[in-house]
Parts: sequence; structure tokens; C-alpha cells
Amino acid sequence: MQWWLRFMCRGDDIALRIKGITYGYTSIPVLENINLDVKKGEVIGLLGPNGSGKSTLLRIVAGLIRPWFGSIEFGKRPVIGYMPQVESIDWDFPITVEEVVALGLWNRSGMMPWPSKYVRERVNMVLEDLGMSSNAKRQIRELSGGEQKRVFLARAIVHEPELLLLDEPTTGADPSTRDDILKILNKLNRDGATIILSTHDIVGVAMNLPRVVCINKRILADGDAKDILRGDNLLKVYGLIDSMM
Ligand code: ADP
Ligand code: MG
Repeated sequence: MQWWLRFMCRGDDIALRIKGITYGYTSIPVLENINLDVKKGEVIGLLGPNGSGKSTLLRIVAGLIRPWFGSIEFGKRPVIGYMPQVESIDWDFPITVEEVVALGLWNRSGMMPWPSKYVRERVNMVLEDLGMSSNAKRQIRELSGGEQKRVFLARAIVHEPELLLLDEPTTGADPSTRDDILKILNKLNRDGATIILSTHDIVGVAMNLPRVVCINKRILADGDAKDILRGDNLLKVYGLIDSMM
């Protein structure tokens, strides 16, 4: 395990603690001293304009990027499900919907080069839950953006993760896909999953969440959606009154 993903070894109900994270792709940081405690079973929306560091933060929590400073501490290392921002994926290679979802179970596939019964059953079940069964054999690149979202959500949840990191799971999805996705997340959360998702959708997504964290390189606001999503905060987050901060 990477050194910046530390165990916390304490008996409280914190699922993860983001501690003093600073990171940049070049010499200029895109995240600066990010501190955030996430409790078990929380659902948190990360809200911020393009380029504010949402994807970067999720990648760091997922263990894909090593921060310059700071650490991610877990009470107990959770099983993580990660859904990347779908728009950022290049679909030149041929892969079917069910193959993409089965990737989420790579460590449960057994010794054989074909999927086990368990994998086939889990993949079918999750595709069914997401209304994608009829597309199982199709190439992923043939699907619409909203359908691809469902497939990537399926991959992120197929191994029943305790911590779900979802990068813009509803962006570009039509309202019915968005509502289906929110319904599934709600069910997973009721079953105990902790969820962090990034979003641009204030009315359709963020307003429905119990906790919203506004980020733009730093954390600018953190709290109940109804308190946080006020005009003055949004102006601050979207940079229009930067000079007043
Ligand atoms: P968001 O998800 O909020 O749109 P990102 O985390 O993707 O923000 O990006 C934060 C900043 O880091 C942006 O300025 C972006 O251009 C830059 N960035 C993101 N990914 C890379 C990368 N792979 N290489 C260089 N710069 C990157
Ligand atoms: Mg992003």
C-alpha cells in the first residue's frame, strides 16, 4: 500500500480523513492543503468549476496519484469503487459492456481465462439493476454518453465497495438516467456505502445531498446543501468574487 494511504487505527466512525493534501501536475499546485473528514455512510458532493481539482482529489483518494504533501487515512482500508470521468476515456479499443463491468471483479475471476459463474452472475445482476441488460454484448463505444455512465457505475459497484468515489456520475446524462443513478446510489448508501461524488449539477444533484463540499483548489465551503448552496458561496466557488475572499 502506498505510504500516503495510512491506516488510522482508531475506533471512531470516520471512514476516511483527507489530511493536508497538496498536489500539482506541474510545479503549480492544483490542490492546496485539503482537509476533510468523511464519516462512515456519508454521501458527499464535491462541487466546483472545471479545473478546480475535483478529479484530482478523487484520484488521490483512490490511490492513483501520490500527493506532494498530506495523507489519506482510513479507519480500516475499505473496498473502494472508483468511477472515472467518462468523458476522459478514449474508446479506440474494442470491449463490450459486460467485459467492462467484469473488470471491476478482476480479483475474483479465478484461474481460468473465462469469467467464473460468480462473475457472470454479479455482472448480470448489476447490469439489470442499471437497466443495461439488453446492451451487455454491445461495444462500449457504440453507446450514448448516458449509457456509458451506467456501465462505468456498474463497474464501480459490481464488487460491492464500502467507499464509492464517483467522478461526475451524472454529467451529460439525461434526467431519467440521472434519477436512476441517484436511486441506485441511495440504495447503496442505505446498505452502508460511503459515497463521494463530484458534480456540476446544483439543482439535480447537489441540492439533494446531505453534505456538499465546495472546492476550487482549496475547500471554500463545507456543510448542508441548503446552507452551502447560497448565491454568495457559489459566487465564491465559481471565482467571481475571488478578490473578496
Ligand atoms: P476538475 O475535475 O475539477 O475539472 P481536475 O482535477 O481535472 O479538475 O484538474 C485540476 C487542474 O489540473 C486543471 O488545471 C487541469 O488542467 C489540471 N490537470 C488535470 N489533469 C492533468 C494532467 N493529467 N496533466 C496535467 N494537468 C492536469
Ligand atoms: Mg473532473
